[in-house]
Amino acid sequence: MKKIIVLILIPFVLFAYKVDILTWKTHYTFYQFLKDNKLPVSIYYNLKPNIKRKLRHILTGEKIFILKNNNSFKQALIPIDANNQLQIIKINNNYITKIVPIIYDTFQKKAQIIIKHYLNYDVYKTTGSMLLSRKLIAIFNDKINFRKIPKNTKITIIYNEKTRFGKVKNIKILFASVSNRYYHYEAFLNPYDNKYYDQNARSLRGMFLPAPLKYKRISSYFGMRLHPILHVWRMHDGIDYVNKIGTPIHAVADGKIIYKGWIRGYGKSVEIKHKDGYMTLYAHLHSWPRGIYVGKWVKQGQVIGYLGDTGLSTGPHLHFGVMHYGRWINPLKIKNSARITLWGKKRKKFLSYIKKFAKEQNIALALK
Ligand SMILES: [Zn+2]
Repeated sequence: MKKIIVLILIPFVLFAYKVDILTWKTHYTFYQFLKDNKLPVSIYYNLKPNIKRKLRHILTGEKIFILKNNNSFKQALIPIDANNQLQIIKINNNYITKIVPIIYDTFQKKAQIIIKHYLNYDVYKTTGSMLLSRKLIAIFNDKINFRKIPKNTKITIIYNEKTRFGKVKNIKILFASVSNRYYHYEAFLNPYDNKYYDQNARSLRGMFLPAPLKYKRISSYFGMRLHPILHVWRMHDGIDYVNKIGTPIHAVADGKIIYKGWIRGYGKSVEIKHKDGYMTLYAHLHSWPRGIYVGKWVKQGQVIGYLGDTGLSTGPHLHFGVMHYGRWINPLKIKNSARITLWGKKRKKFLSYIKKFAKEQNIALALK
């Protein structure tokens, strides 16, 4: 097999030295990199196993920095993950390697967008960023349906753009507001916990995900129903989501697994205990991923099982139940009922931060 590797070399002049910036191409390897720069393979063999592993997964398009003096190798910087890079230094005829943090340039930017077509398009047209609308959607996901956003909605975003050699590596939204004649929402990144809150210190995200899986349809809601197998009227104390066997099931909130196993009628199940007296049940599972056991703490969104057909079931579906202080409640009601609000010291710190931020950025706070 012949691999065609094209290296783009951008020469720079830096004092008496020369800096080459090489773009990592698909199928390019660290071994090839050493060969191309006439560096000994021992550099690779002397690295720790976890660094070697990372070097096997350098992303296409990464920029490698090579410093030369009179065409002789002096130094190289190779990014190995989002935060670190491998530094290779030639001293006399020896090579030293170090792991050093990647230095990014950060620029603060402000964008004002009026929705004329649809969100992705309008944000891209104004800012040139594909990432920005994704980040915005993630912040307001529980509040706004961006697919149905009214025309002429005004969006303001203040964000930090992290770049390396002129290429945008990441974006962090510090503030965003979305307003139209129907609603006005604001989101501030709280520097103390890295989460988004509105101007009244209420979390933008509910404590729960809207649903524990991607589903095709709901086959049974919470309430009295004629049982499809037992043919008697019974309380259905959860909600049934239909999809294919094997569909990943996610924990709807952070919590601790308190049960994993077979429950009569429910088949293979998982129960998770959450804060504020909540417990969630995921039943009729096909199987569980590795590392799911009683006592394990799981994060919101973590896969805790796969959709199945076990127990008393009429076909592949997830039975999802929510218990609040010992009583089953309608899972569709939790979406907005359990929002986190900052209190006490945390609230004070956050409010004084946003007051300062708003003043610096010239934002009028819509405090209630
Ligand atoms: Zn059910």
